[in-house]
Amino acid sequence: TFRALRVIQDGETRRAEFQTLPISELPEGEVLIEVSHSSLNYKDGLAVTGAGQVLKRLPMTPGIDLAGTVLEDRSGTYTSGDAIILTGWGIGEAQDGGYATHARARAGWLVRQPTGTDAAWAMSIGTAGFTAMLSVMALEDAGVRPDQGDILVTGAAGGVGSVAIALLSAAGFTVTASTGRTEEEAYLRALGASTIIGRDEMPSLKRPLEKERWAGVVDCVGGETLAGAYASTRTHGALAVCGIAGGLELHTTVFPLILRGVSLLGIDSVTCPQPRREAAWQRLARDLPAAKLAAVTGIRGLSEVPELAPQILAGKVRGRTVIDVNG
Ligand code: NAP
Repeated sequence: TFRALRVIQDGETRRAEFQTLPISELPEGEVLIEVSHSSLNYKDGLAVTGAGQVLKRLPMTPGIDLAGTVLEDRSGTYTSGDAIILTGWGIGEAQDGGYATHARARAGWLVRQPTGTDAAWAMSIGTAGFTAMLSVMALEDAGVRPDQGDILVTGAAGGVGSVAIALLSAAGFTVTASTGRTEEEAYLRALGASTIIGRDEMPSLKRPLEKERWAGVVDCVGGETLAGAYASTRTHGALAVCGIAGGLELHTTVFPLILRGVSLLGIDSVTCPQPRREAAWQRLARDLPAAKLAAVTGIRGLSEVPELAPQILAGKVRGRTVIDVNG
């Protein structure tokens, strides 16, 4: 048997409860995994509380991330005991995910744990940190370089934002952090931000083209924040657009695209192709300073997830939260 946090339909409402289930209840997939750690992301908050339509059917085990060891692999790709990471590909949304002691998944979805790292390290990064890495890689691929000016990170004190600041600063960029929690200034500066601006100081979209300020942007917030950042991005700059913490809509004009050559770059960690995934994890292992990652990470037990889920939606969780699935 295995233990899982399950979201079930209970009459009119959805609620989360712990269940002990036979291994035969796990979904299809060649690889049986003993999960040791998962993590808490914004999307997990939506899934566990039922706030968003994240779960495609019920009952379902949420948890969009997991790390652990292979118990058996019918594809022959992995051997028993191999340490693996799985993020995205619909786990914790369309198929049972990481909030359980065991999981089953396709071999083609897994990434080997980089040499010298462990499961807790991988889950302190998780989907949020992986998305931060994809965002930085996207800006670099679009030609954004440290000598071109500041990079703006919005939703800075959250999971994606915190890891993005650490990665950008390690790569030599000058970072401006936009946050609703200016009391987190010391934390954001320790991660590598040079300038901190409050959410309400963000340039808003009064005119289609605002004063040019950012060489690049990592946006976790969407809505008006993204519209303002886009209107104030410098000529030939780029925005890695990854989040919705502040809104789903984007009311703007095409002027920054056609008069400044600004690029809007979409980031989707869930379906990121496998070679880019592996490159991102290798680079995280190489470039993300261990001390900075430790500073952004808290560890909590699986039993605490139901109370943590509403907190991350309310923007009250700082940095990253690793979930010990046996805790
Ligand atoms: P998180 O830890 O909750 O961080 C989100 C941050 O956004 C908060 O810490 C807060 O930062 C800010 N925020 C929250 N509510 C806000 C509001 N109403 N208005 C403006 N800012 C607000 O979540 P996360 O796991 O880092 O994820 C961040 C976003 O990226 C989420 O929308 C998530 O769905 C998205 N995401 C997308 C992908 C992808 O593949 N595209 C992958 C991972 C995450 P401050 O306190 O600093 O203001």
